[in-house]
Formats: sequence, C-alpha cells, structure tokens
Amino acid sequence: MIIWQQLSKQQQVSTLARPAIRDNQVLAQNVKHIIDAVRDNGDTALLDFTQTFDRVTLDDLRLPESQVQRSVNALSAERKQAIQTAYEQIKAFHNAQQFQDIIVETRPGVTCQLKSEPIESVGLYIPAGSAPLPSTVLMLGVPAKLAGCERVVLVCPPDKDGNLADEIIYAASVCGINEIYRIGGAQAIAALALGTKTLAPVNKVFGPGNKYVTEAKKQLSQAVPGFAIDMPAGPSELLVIADAGANPVFVAADLLSQAEHGPDSQVILLSDSAQMIEAVSNELHTQISTLPRKDIAEQALEQSRLILCANLDEAAAVSNLYGPEHLSLQVRDTDSLLNKVRNAGSIFVGDYSPESAGDYASGTNHVLPTYGYSKVTSSLSLADFSRRYTVQTLTKPGLESLAQTIIELTDAEGLDAHQRAVTLRVDADASFNDAN
Ligand code: NAD
Repeated sequence: MIIWQQLSKQQQVSTLARPAIRDNQVLAQNVKHIIDAVRDNGDTALLDFTQTFDRVTLDDLRLPESQVQRSVNALSAERKQAIQTAYEQIKAFHNAQQFQDIIVETRPGVTCQLKSEPIESVGLYIPAGSAPLPSTVLMLGVPAKLAGCERVVLVCPPDKDGNLADEIIYAASVCGINEIYRIGGAQAIAALALGTKTLAPVNKVFGPGNKYVTEAKKQLSQAVPGFAIDMPAGPSELLVIADAGANPVFVAADLLSQAEHGPDSQVILLSDSAQMIEAVSNELHTQISTLPRKDIAEQALEQSRLILCANLDEAAAVSNLYGPEHLSLQVRDTDSLLNKVRNAGSIFVGDYSPESAGDYASGTNHVLPTYGYSKVTSSLSLADFSRRYTVQTLTKPGLESLAQTIIELTDAEGLDAHQRAVTLRVDADASFNDAN
C-alpha cells in the first residue's frame, strides 16, 4: 500500500507514471518500413504482411458477401440478441448527440451560421490480435452510420484460417457496413490512408489497436495531407476511488476487468480507508486465480497502484493529476465526489456501475483517450464523424455598419488588399445595386 502524503512531489509523479512504451525508435522504423512497402507495392505488400504477421495466405483481401449469411447462421440466437441489444443502446445515446445548426444575426444585416457535414469516407480498425472485439464494431459503426458518412470501411486482421469472427461480421451487418477487408496491423492503416488497387483511401481512421496500429496512425496522420485519425489511444486504464463502505469484491472485479486487457494495462485504487485497500488486495489474489487470462492480468497488476489518501478530496486531486481513461466512483456520497473529479474519459458512478457496462452496452462509447490525454481530448462521440464549418451572409447595410471596424484593423495589420475589398463595396454606386 502506498501512502500518498508520505511521498515527495517527485515520488508522486513517478507513482502515477504510465508503463513506458519501450523500443520507440525500433518500433517507428519497423512501422515506417511497412508503410513504405504498402505505398510502393500496394495489395502485394498487404498480402505479404498478412502472410508474415497473421500466418495466412489470402487470394482476396475483401471479405466475400457470402460470408455474412454464413456468420448469421453460425451464431446462436442469444449471441445475436446480445449484439442487437447493445446496438440499440449505443444507437439511442449517440442519436441524441445529433448536431443542431446554429444561426445568429450578430448585428442587423450580418448573419453567421455553424453547420455540420458528415466526413465522406471513414475507416474503422477492429483489433483482433489477442481477442476479436465485436463491441468495438458497434462503438465505431453506430456513430459512423448515424452521422451519415457515405463510405464506411471496416478492417480487421484475419485468423489463421483467413476468417473474421462471426460476431464481428454480424455486428458489422447490424450496423449496415458491407465493405470489409481482412487486414490488420500497421499495413491496414497504411492501406486506408494511402489506398491500393483493391482499397480506395479514406479521409479518417478510427479505432484502438496495438503499438503497431497506434504508431502507423501517428506517422500517417503527419505524412498524408488531409488524412486524420480519431485520437491517441493506448493501453487501457482504470482508476477506482472507493470509500470504507464500498464492496471490495466489486472493486477487485473491476480492477481485474481492465488488467486482463493486456500486460501494459494500468489499474489504480485510491481510498481513504486502509482496511478497504487491504480487503481489495486480498480479493485481487482470490479472483485472479480463476481467470483464464490470469497471466496477462498478473503482468498488468505489477504496475497497479493501491494508494491510501488522507480523504476523498485528496483522492479527487490525485485522480485529476493522473487523468484516467476510466474512472469509477464507489463511494457513499457520489454527487459530492462527482463535482470534484474532472479529467477522465468516462466516469462510472456508484457501486452498480461496473466499467464493463460502458465497455459493452450501457450506450456510452468505449473508445476513450488514454495516457493522460483525457485532460485535453474528448471521448469518442457522434461529432467525431462529421466536421463543422461556418457560413456568413452580409447585406450592404450590414457591411457598411462593420466597415470602420474592419478598416481600422486592416490598417493595424498593414493588409491593404483586405481593406480595399471592403471600401470598394461600401463606395460602390447605386447602379450596381440596381442591376442586382
Ligand atoms: P491488433 O489488431 O491491434 O493487432 C494485430 C496485428 O498486429 C496483426 O494483424 C499484425 O499485423 C500486427 N503485428 C503483430 N505482430 C507484429 C510485428 N512483430 N510487427 C509488425 N506488426 C505486427 O490486436 P492486438 O494485438 O490484440 O491489440 C489490441 C490492442 O487494442 C490492445 O493493446 C488493447 O489494450 C487495445 N484496446 C484499446 C481500447 C481503447 O479504447 N483504448 C479498446 C480495445 C482494445
């Protein structure tokens, strides 16, 4: 157990440090090599990398249409119903986020508008290296379709038989996505950004992935003009604030639910009760022993932190300093604590709001900023699938009423052509108005 008040400022910072991303330079070089190969050799490079990394030889990267019906038939009614229910929950929450155009007459004769248009083409990366994630199909596919994106492309690494999980294909069909490619890793992101003979490029890529995927998103968004990515998303994180009245069984289960994601996941418990920390620590040992992904969770727990705070105000301050991806508040007075916590991707309030609910089916999006980016980046929402732009309309009297302001400011900036574009209009004789 760590006692926050006994740490120096420097120790506090190192206690909250994320697990370092190792071999950054080697990683950057390997990913650059993959991107260059896709740029030079297109589909041939994609097929070669799929053979090397996914250990399968494919003739065609695109998923055949016939596979959709086979996946629908292969899944149990219960599995399909669960996907359908999660789809409806996510759709209900994201549909309520529809943008309303804004129109303001800032002064008589001067009208300004803020409007929104869907991004024309988007690529959705669905990870499948260690586990296929149909929930991510819904988290990306639902807002992409609700926003009205014209072309929605899904990419996902194939298994050793060249297939995608039936659940992924079914979730895509529920969302109405039918352009699906069996590619993963950095090569999939390169194909989406640069395009190949088989796969036309897209404007923006969404989705989590491993270090190769994340590095490719970073490099390509800097190198390809007009190509954008959703957000910097890294290994999963959960911070729980629990008071003496929390249930240690629930708290330990939540911490393990994130720890099982990957060895570089990070979980943190803050409490004002030493007994609670002790009880959660014991529960962690009990519950981990029966987890199929025990080895992964154990590695992640090596960088977990159980921290005793002087009170819940201090816990809120520590949480704000860390800025977790997921924040769980298992305290008696949730309202008061909710007012004090800020930087978090998604907040789970009360003993009966496990993080798993948000991961799958409550309706909120599970694509969230990690690595402290929750201090500056929003969680994924409908707005990320469209772009906002402005429109303005001025009448002659409207322009005349602003002319002196613009003339003064163009003088200050020495931009005469800007000034002339106003004065010529203000001085235009009535014959122009009459003709128009
Ligand atoms: P993945 O699909 O991201 O990666 C698999 C691909 O990696 C393979 O297809 C292969 O092409 C490539 N690859 C594997 N080894 C390689 C190598 N040596 N060199 C180059 N490329 C290689 O699947 P994954 O590995 O299971 O990773 C999923 C990640 O997504 C996890 O880290 C998980 O924590 C993260 N995740 C994050 C969120 C979030 O919202 N932040 C949500 C879900 C998952």
